[in-house]
Amino acid sequence: MSKYIFVTGGVVSSLGKGIISSSIGKLLQARGYSVTIQKFDPYINIDPGTLNPYEHGECYVTEDGMETDLDLGHYERFTGIRTTRDNSVTTGRIYKTVIDRERRGDYLGRTIQVVPHITDEIKRRMLRAGDFDANNQRQAGGSTSNTFDFIITEVGGTIGDIESAPFMEAIRQLRWELGRDAVCVHLTYVPYLKAASELKTKPTQHSVKEMQGMGIQPDILILRTEKHLSDNVRMKVASFCNVELECVVQSEDLPSIYEVPVNMQRQGLDAALLRKFGIPVGETPALGPWRNFLEKQRKLTKELHVALVGKYDLQDAYKSIRESLSLAGVYEDVKVKIEFVNSEHIDESNVAEQLSGMQGVLICPGFGHRGIEGKIVAAHYTRTHGIPTLGICLGMQMMVIEFARNVLHFTDANSTEMDRHTTHPVIDIMEEQKQNVNGGTMGGTMRLGAYRCSLRAGSRVATAYAPSSQCAVADGPSFISERHRHRYEFNNKYEQDYEQNGMQCTGRNPESDLVEIVEVAEHPWYVGVQFHPEYSSTVLHPHPLFMDFVKHCL
Ligand code: GLN
Repeated sequence: MSKYIFVTGGVVSSLGKGIISSSIGKLLQARGYSVTIQKFDPYINIDPGTLNPYEHGECYVTEDGMETDLDLGHYERFTGIRTTRDNSVTTGRIYKTVIDRERRGDYLGRTIQVVPHITDEIKRRMLRAGDFDANNQRQAGGSTSNTFDFIITEVGGTIGDIESAPFMEAIRQLRWELGRDAVCVHLTYVPYLKAASELKTKPTQHSVKEMQGMGIQPDILILRTEKHLSDNVRMKVASFCNVELECVVQSEDLPSIYEVPVNMQRQGLDAALLRKFGIPVGETPALGPWRNFLEKQRKLTKELHVALVGKYDLQDAYKSIRESLSLAGVYEDVKVKIEFVNSEHIDESNVAEQLSGMQGVLICPGFGHRGIEGKIVAAHYTRTHGIPTLGICLGMQMMVIEFARNVLHFTDANSTEMDRHTTHPVIDIMEEQKQNVNGGTMGGTMRLGAYRCSLRAGSRVATAYAPSSQCAVADGPSFISERHRHRYEFNNKYEQDYEQNGMQCTGRNPESDLVEIVEVAEHPWYVGVQFHPEYSSTVLHPHPLFMDFVKHCL
């Protein structure tokens, strides 16, 4: 029988529920339990795939091809688990399931209501009971998801939001039905008022009262704070909120999010959880490899300057890329200083200045016209100046276009995403995508999720991947598996032109022949990948491509 942990947030958003959920997952895993973490988002979009990154940050992609909230990236990086489409649910998806069922006549003439129909569907997904969607896929490795020892459910938004009310009602009912097998963790904020030199617990008290008003008593409170909380403050919260003192934990600002699990363990969060479930606590796990990583991270002094060339000037828009670079840096004993360079402001006259001092350049993924010419100029500059460059997805496509324009002399070369009438469509729409773009079915229809790629022996990428065991060496040393999110691809008609002029196609999908990787052998490190290596980098297993990139930047 699985145990259920619900993680909610109060007072303000952006407190880091995802980090707390991931840390809980990590700590329980370290005690030998199997764990999964799922995110319920109260917005109405079916998935974040169609959302602008300015709304909720990066769109993360699971191996089975679901476009999800970026918190799933934290879950994977912290715990190493591979999430699936079951781990990410929105209000839109819940309603769609219920409405599809109603249209099929499954409800036999009854009135469909938020309670019980919507709440029942939320509960079913929280319990991970049964198949949710027609193309539901199960956890890699064949285990059915309802055999996890712990199922951690994070609910997006803040207590009191109108749209999260059905989720709270579902949690209330589940707590009642599951009894001791369900525990509620509530994350709040304790602000420090400078003028009064005081930490204020009132917002926390109000947030808990609001929960109690919904019929939910939190079992564990995690207080986010910028200052250390004394025992007195914790005692006050405990007594006003009906929570035991040992269950009031503080989460201070730390230099790295990866310090959080250790901080939580130090305060006995995992032990408190186990006691709530009536499970014997046992010995505290050493977290050896994790602590080694932190030790390495704390000692970093040397810096490496890497430019992120993209169009979204927002930390969260390239979350997984930033984390992958930093993680690789830790293993290469260097602190990666990431400088965002807005590609909309790059042109030939200023590129040298914009990229000055950069030891490596990463050309970011993206969609649409905005900022692409700047990416092409940056790719040209780094290719002709021997600066290590990694292009991801749209970044790779821009490297291909740059090479066509400046080496192959196809001056109007482009992607048909940007110019339908180019005489040299070196990047072209995939055949099976034409109907989606023309027919306007844009949600969840890209080439998504993990596909195999064979690596050319002796290539830069084959060497980069060779020492790693992490990157799904599926069928032998020259096969990898990586996640995708695109509609356009390298146009194979031009392959010979590229090969003969110095850009090699060193990775391809063995089934469709789609070019997955291009590289320039004559360059210190110039690699473009159609896939997204950033989605599969974890704390304990940094991605080999990022490792090799960082190594060569150094
Ligand atoms: N817009 C490009 C495509 O659809 C690249 C997508 C991306 O960078 N994720 O192929």
